Amino acid sequence: MVVRMRANRSKTGMRRSHAAISSKHVSKCSCGANYISHRACQECGKYNGRMVIDIVARTKREQRRTKKRTTEMRASGRDTGEAKEKETTAKK
Ligand SMILES: [Zn+2]
Repeated sequence: MVVRMRANRSKTGMRRSHAAISSKHVSKCSCGANYISHRACQECGKYNGRMVIDIVARTKREQRRTKKRTTEMRASGRDTGEAKEKETTAKK
């Protein structure tokens, strides 16, 4: 029995000729970190020499969120990864 709509190897290859993943265009920022071009630098928050992301505010926000998350985890009774690390270090 022959499947009428089945694509042969040649047709499959033709379709997939455009499916390759291209590498991301990475550039070097003035701060020394690598960043993806046409995107703001994740390290210093600059784009084209001008501040776009408020790095200080972002780090503060992240710290606040991690703190909140850990307190919630402790409150719910699940042990966090931090507690385990402390135990292992205490044993040593
Ligand atoms: Zn930068």
